[in-house]
Amino acid sequence: MTAAYEVRGLTCRLGGREIVRGVDLEVRHGEVLALVGPNGAGKSTLLGALTGDVPVASGEILLEGRPLGQWSSADLARARSVLLQANQVSFPFTVREVVEMGRSPWLGRSTAQEDEAAIAEAIERTDIAHLLDRPFTALSGGERARASLARVLAQRTPVVLLDEPTAALDLRHQEDVMVVARDLAAAGRAVVVVLHDLSLAAARADRMAIVEAGRIVGIGTPADVLTPETVERVYGIAVHVLTDTPDGHPIVVPHRERSDTASS
Ligand code: ADP
Ligand code: MG
Repeated sequence: MTAAYEVRGLTCRLGGREIVRGVDLEVRHGEVLALVGPNGAGKSTLLGALTGDVPVASGEILLEGRPLGQWSSADLARARSVLLQANQVSFPFTVREVVEMGRSPWLGRSTAQEDEAAIAEAIERTDIAHLLDRPFTALSGGERARASLARVLAQRTPVVLLDEPTAALDLRHQEDVMVVARDLAAAGRAVVVVLHDLSLAAARADRMAIVEAGRIVGIGTPADVLTPETVERVYGIAVHVLTDTPDGHPIVVPHRERSDTASS
């Protein structure tokens, strides 16, 4: 697997504070890398640095071997796509128009057939065919998230960055999104995905990185990273990590008091 990103000694400052602090990270083509960590840990800021939207205070980021700062915005838009945490569309575009926006970086470079195929595939993968004529602004949170993901998929970039794509989704659509992420990786893309659900991350990511206070404090396979000690220390809550699971992937469950009233 070749490196999509090489990050060395990355520090990012926002509002006078160091939000990302000395991060070293490699992201490989063909892998799903999950970023996890508590609220405010700096996951979105780190992802923003990878997209080129958050300035680098020190250190360096190479995208496909080339310093991120040397990429033109047009070339960047064909190299990496981004699903932001807040799905910012304020003008009432239809869902179809939002998905079509994913093709704009390819204007004059792709055929109408390629555009149509990319859009059709994105619509199918995100299960939004029934929403296409609706205004994006009139959708539910989960429907917006899927329409925004369709825009990202339509962009067909070698690197895909997703910030909490499953946060608003029901159980089935959460699973669908992570299957899409796996398929992207199987096709050789590099996928970085911010997730809160540790068990979902463990089931679908090749590697996980735990972010705490701007640093990566653990990185490796889910089984390596998700020890009760690490989760407890980083999140401040005692957990069980179940390893004897139907699919062999660890499941993280908080210690909860047994309640006899719950079943009545
Ligand atoms: P996460 O995505 O892990 O929840 P973020 O990267 O969004 O965390 O934020 C990390 C920290 O940086 C938070 O304390 C947040 O308040 C702060 N932060 C984020 N954006 C800005 C900004 N533009 N200016 C100042 N502080 C910011
Ligand atoms: Mg965030």
